[in-house]
Amino acid sequence: MAPEGNNKRDPAEGAEEYDIVIIGGGPAGLAAGLYAARGLHKTLLLEKGVVGGQIALTELVENYPGVPTVNGFDLAQTMLKQSESYGMETDYSAVSAVERAGEKWIVKTEERNIIAKAVIVTSGADYNRLGVTGEERLTGKGVSYCATCDAAFFKGQDVAVVGGGDAAMDEGLFTSRYADNVTVLHRRDELRASRILQERAFANPKMKFRWNTIVDAVVGDGQVTSLRLRDVVTGDESTLPVGAVFIFIGQHPNSGFLKGLVKMDAGGHVIVDEWMRTQQPGLFAAGDVRQNSARQVASSVGDGVTAAIAADHYLSSKFSSHAAVASPD
Ligand SMILES: Cc1cc2nc3c(=O)[nH]c(=O)nc-3n(C[C@H](O)[C@H](O)[C@H](O)COP(=O)(O)OP(=O)(O)OC[C@H]3O[C@@H](n4cnc5c(N)ncnc54)[C@H](O)[C@@H]3O)c2cc1C
Repeated sequence: MAPEGNNKRDPAEGAEEYDIVIIGGGPAGLAAGLYAARGLHKTLLLEKGVVGGQIALTELVENYPGVPTVNGFDLAQTMLKQSESYGMETDYSAVSAVERAGEKWIVKTEERNIIAKAVIVTSGADYNRLGVTGEERLTGKGVSYCATCDAAFFKGQDVAVVGGGDAAMDEGLFTSRYADNVTVLHRRDELRASRILQERAFANPKMKFRWNTIVDAVVGDGQVTSLRLRDVVTGDESTLPVGAVFIFIGQHPNSGFLKGLVKMDAGGHVIVDEWMRTQQPGLFAAGDVRQNSARQVASSVGDGVTAAIAADHYLSSKFSSHAAVASPD
């Protein structure tokens, strides 16, 4: 009989062990998986939804070098097949916690606990949505959360930008390179953006501002054609004809399961060094979940590769059975 108070189950008991566990199957995770598995590490990728992350819902990607124009879902499936062809395993489960277990890690999902010698967190970020009629249906069809990605599709058109912070002004200015008119819709009567960005936006002849204005609905049949707007002071309703709406009302990284374990910035982005190392040995973070990410497919892929190489070096320095392919030091 087990002594009283000592009958707690060891979370590592019966758990399968991997060299590298990757949390999140977006571009960063898929790239990390390719390098980890091709480096002959026993590799598991955990994905809570659809492989591809944010890009899985994107109709056209035109700025991934070497691939002129591709559907986002197809690009992700190609990446997945490539990584799995080198032995990466994929498990469609959500990670709820990551805990230290001596020199290794325990990664917890609802179904099981997994032991990992190294963990690469590539859980990305979700853009805040307006939550209005038509927004979800027309995402990728004129509703966008990334001007750098999509502004070029709306050359010569009238578009709207929603938001009043730095991201909204920055992306609004970028959008004005292509669009004829950019109407900024902001629910308050002044911007939150930094002074310099405000000055640039106000000085831009293509940018117009509608204050105290919210979007009630995105309208279009297969493609955005207009927005239904409401003045929050007067209650007046109006219609704004646009070919696209770029929404920048914040973004939240999927880092809740790491709280208390790693350093994060005020927005919850994980702080890493140039090799994607957190302050916890053996725990890496790459892609949109990290602080100062460029938030692109190509940059996330680069981050994932960097993290996998750093993890490889970590394994070879910590666990003698692993030989390094490259050194971050
Ligand atoms: C609409 C849209 C269009 C875009 N278009 C372009 C473009 O044309 N070109 C470009 O370069 N960039 C584009 N981007 C940006 C680009 O998609 C992102 O920068 C990139 O996908 C980030 O990759 P990531 O792997 O870091 O994260 P994500 O793509 O966010 O992937 C993270 C993954 O982790 C999973 N996950 C999260 N939490 C957990 C958990 N607890 N357990 C298990 N899995 C978890 C998520 O389900 C998701 O699949 C676009 C973004 C959006 C939203």
